[in-house]
Amino acid sequence: MLEVRDVTKRFGGLVALNNVSLSVSKGELLGLIGPNGSGKTTLFNVITGFYKPDGGRVLFKGVDITGMRPHKITRLGIGRTFQIPKPFGRMTVLENVMTAAFYGGNASGSEAREIAERWIEYVKLREKAHQEARTLNVVERKLMELARALSTNPELLLLDELVAGLNPSETMEVANLVRRLVDEFGITVIMVEHVMRAVMTISDRVFVLHRGMKLAEGTPEEISRDPKVIEAYLGE
Ligand code: ADP
Repeated sequence: MLEVRDVTKRFGGLVALNNVSLSVSKGELLGLIGPNGSGKTTLFNVITGFYKPDGGRVLFKGVDITGMRPHKITRLGIGRTFQIPKPFGRMTVLENVMTAAFYGGNASGSEAREIAERWIEYVKLREKAHQEARTLNVVERKLMELARALSTNPELLLLDELVAGLNPSETMEVANLVRRLVDEFGITVIMVEHVMRAVMTISDRVFVLHRGMKLAEGTPEEISRDPKVIEAYLGE
């Protein structure tokens, strides 16, 4: 589904990603973890076309998408959420999600509404559908963000700190919604989290970044007892 080959990204003298290679298979849920500043968001930005890498390639379903514009990559089937969502506060939840279906998913007006309603229902926001987005609380905003990303009809979905700031029961509820996307809808997911717990529970495989480089890769069980990983987090 996705292959990142030897990607390097620099910001001035800072090497945010240093020769990173990673691949994800169809129907897999990959957890991407690492201490603050390890390059997780930068990697998402390279995959989704917001940053052009200084070296390396990104292939999606065998097609080289390196350096393509973000909207084009969205239309090819890569959806994402942002760490800091910027909803249109004065538009309703339904309008916000429809906009994503319309522009990102290339749906017509009536299709966009149908798609938006389906995903709003999935994330359990139906009762809030006609409220302005600015009236939503933190959890609801994250769920709306998830519905927006889903409405672009992604085959590969990148989630950036979707559960950050949620309490433990909210975290597990959102994590279960994400797991069901893989199991029931066959969507391939890469999930970035700074907090490990949710990722360790639902991921098939975990990839650990540290200072822009791959530190470890394995099953959640292997990763959670890897001394290198434990040390990287303790050293924060
Ligand atoms: P993470 O998501 O793992 O916390 P980031 O990818 O946000 O890490 O950041 C990796 C490194 O790149 C950090 O040192 C960060 O300060 C730097 N960085 C990220 N984006 C930019 C940018 N647009 N300009 C300059 N430095 C950046």
